[in-house]
Amino acid sequence: MSRYSIDCRETPSEQNCTVSIAADAEDELLEAAVQHAITVHGHTDSPELRQEMVNHFKESPSA
Ligand SMILES: [Zn+2]
Repeated sequence: MSRYSIDCRETPSEQNCTVSIAADAEDELLEAAVQHAITVHGHTDSPELRQEMVNHFKESPSA
């Protein structure tokens, strides 16, 4: 079982956002990350935004 995560500190941003989001499924993580990007960073949901996020996903073994 893997765990996927994305760390805002490692993505390009004007804000000094330090939020880290994690989930067991890439789908779940993507939805949470998109919502975060929209509400906190003012992004617009788009295929490009989602692809950019998937590129920053990190996979790690869950305990
Ligand atoms: Zn953020």
